[in-house]
Amino acid sequence: HKVRDFIYNGQPSRVVFGAGSLAHLEREIDLLGARRALILSTPEQSQQAQMVADRLASRAAGIFPRAVMHVPIETAREARELAQKLGADCAVAIGGGSTTGLGKAIAMESGLPILAIPTTYAGSEMTPIYGITEAGLKKTGRDSRVLPRTVIYDPELTLTLPVGMSVTSGMNAIAHAAEGLYAQDSNPVMDLMAEEGIRAIAQALPAIRRQSDDLEGRTNALYGAWLCGSVLGNVGMALHHKLCHTLGGSFNLPHAEVHTVILPQAIAFNADAAPQAMARIGRALGGQGGASAAAGLFDLACDNGAPVSLRDIGMKESELDRAADIAVSNPYWNPRPFGVAQRGEIRQLLQNAFEGIRPA
Ligand code: NAD
Repeated sequence: HKVRDFIYNGQPSRVVFGAGSLAHLEREIDLLGARRALILSTPEQSQQAQMVADRLASRAAGIFPRAVMHVPIETAREARELAQKLGADCAVAIGGGSTTGLGKAIAMESGLPILAIPTTYAGSEMTPIYGITEAGLKKTGRDSRVLPRTVIYDPELTLTLPVGMSVTSGMNAIAHAAEGLYAQDSNPVMDLMAEEGIRAIAQALPAIRRQSDDLEGRTNALYGAWLCGSVLGNVGMALHHKLCHTLGGSFNLPHAEVHTVILPQAIAFNADAAPQAMARIGRALGGQGGASAAAGLFDLACDNGAPVSLRDIGMKESELDRAADIAVSNPYWNPRPFGVAQRGEIRQLLQNAFEGIRPA
């Protein structure tokens, strides 16, 4: 076993994990030196935001319960203005990637520290990556100021995440880990986290499907989400994430579902170019029946009732050509190169994803 050269950067964030850990919220706000928290949520989670405000009592400056998908610049501006008006000295984001994303948009301009309380498995809370949508265009970038300072992972808050979203969100998390395993800038720490993250989520999803409030399953899934999110925050992503950004951004397909459908196809495309990553993914999935990593991921989604075809999540077949053009026009690094010269292969990958074909 040969250790290769690597660079590893630790990210400065504090993680508090465990069922009931929301009880530590006040202590964590104190440790940030904050006294006036602006609480962020989507409209659907405004009750959870209110619960956080009640808990913080006089240290809650206000609630902004209007986070939406893709962080529109108008919403970000409104939230920033409210933070300023209320004299907020930290933002508490309770919810999924959309809510964390709004917190990041505030932090980017104001430097306000974010305390994130994730309730999905998307993993944004562990990354310095932000996204903001202006005039229909989503811009993304990296800025260390947007990395949440503190993350409270409380599995009890995820019991209400519907089973369908739990499975696709779990596949979204696995995608970060799977691509991290063949990243150009991978390192041994992230490899360990990625393999363990995939294992934790793959074990959790069937348990959650059987019983959506199974606390052990929920705890495993959130643990996996932390691991996979850390991988996303530390190493570069490749073909899979490029395709998902293309399909989500230009064709407005739902984020977690797109990840679920594309992942097995992208992994199949990269299989021969990244045998060690495939071995780790296969091992993490339990290697049942000698299935390939790609087929194992397909089965994990399919067996747990998630969509496996683009057709089923609202993509039109007539748009596949344009999607292939966009994806190859500005490719990311990938273990198997994909650029204009590989346009035919990428178009075929998208066709397979459209039809939901189980990879070999
Ligand atoms: P989301 O945040 O859009 O949430 C989807 C819906 O589920 C919302 O209505 C939300 O209120 C609801 N919800 C969340 N948790 C719930 C719970 N426990 N119970 C009941 N309802 C709940 O979805 P997401 O998949 O978490 O995030 C997707 C977004 O995050 C995308 O825009 C994506 O680009 C972004 N993202 C960014 C990063 C990053 O590093 N910057 C990483 C991953 C995802």
